[in-house]
Amino acid sequence: MRHFLILDIGGTKTTAVVFNEEGTPITNFKVKPSRTYEGEDAVFQNTVEVAYEILAAAKITKEDIVGIGVAAPGPLDYKTGMIIDVPMMGWKNFPLGPKLCEEFGAPVFVENDGNLGALAEATIGVAKGEETVLYQTISTGCGGGIAINGKIFHGHSGFAGEFGHISINFAGPRCGCGGSGCFELYASGTAVTHRMRRDIKCGIKSLAFESIGYDPNKVDGKILAEAAEKNDPYAIDLLTQEGYYIGVGLSNLINMFDPDVIVLAGGMVKSDKYFWKSMMNEIKRHACFHVSEDRIRISQLNDQVVAYGAYVMAKEAIDGTL
Ligand SMILES: [Zn+2]
Repeated sequence: MRHFLILDIGGTKTTAVVFNEEGTPITNFKVKPSRTYEGEDAVFQNTVEVAYEILAAAKITKEDIVGIGVAAPGPLDYKTGMIIDVPMMGWKNFPLGPKLCEEFGAPVFVENDGNLGALAEATIGVAKGEETVLYQTISTGCGGGIAINGKIFHGHSGFAGEFGHISINFAGPRCGCGGSGCFELYASGTAVTHRMRRDIKCGIKSLAFESIGYDPNKVDGKILAEAAEKNDPYAIDLLTQEGYYIGVGLSNLINMFDPDVIVLAGGMVKSDKYFWKSMMNEIKRHACFHVSEDRIRISQLNDQVVAYGAYVMAKEAIDGTL
């Protein structure tokens, strides 16, 4: 039996899992903190450790591994497995793919998480079999990816699908990417918690804030979702506004790609029932043509979507070499 080692290295946590060749995980999805900000060797060593732990859990050794699929933060060069510059990892021109290959003795395929999300959804997820699939995460940040005919669309230099940095307000605030008014600055979980902090300081009352004693340091998307469940007007208003931003962002993608399906994923998307209506209203207003609601879908692969995508990538790459 051939096995695939799958690693999803994120800013806060690293996930490891072993898949068999039928695409079934044969271990749990083991999650460990990434040791970000401790330097390039610490993050790499942490990755290697969690990989060996999952091999032990699968009761196999590295000799049983035929391919390694890795999701990593970008920018990266998917052709060489080189991480170009990720300051929080301390990785600058870091040869992640070659180093993992040296350690485990199997071919390594490295890709950014947004692209892998698109690949997973287009091959085994809620957009399975669809021709043009866009993937948009709405989480701490807003990543994205494009899959066309079941393959990742990379663009000229591998950076296609940076949907979080489409500007929805050219006169808006500056973004870390160098642009201004980026989608991520309005729609991400970070943007929402920023607004909640500001509203606490402005004396706005909400069940969401009561649950944390009006402490601005404790705000997160979860308290907002819980307050919305209790019909708190502030929470429902804020999520309705979130739908407005998401709808404006998605209508740009719709006008550009006329995609068969857009899949939404990430922490904020769990509150979709509160933002769906305002999101669809904005899509109707801004899209140049009619888009039926069933073309916007919510990921069902949840936190595991990227790992599934990394498996599909590694499996296809290995099968392609046979
Ligand atoms: Zn930006």
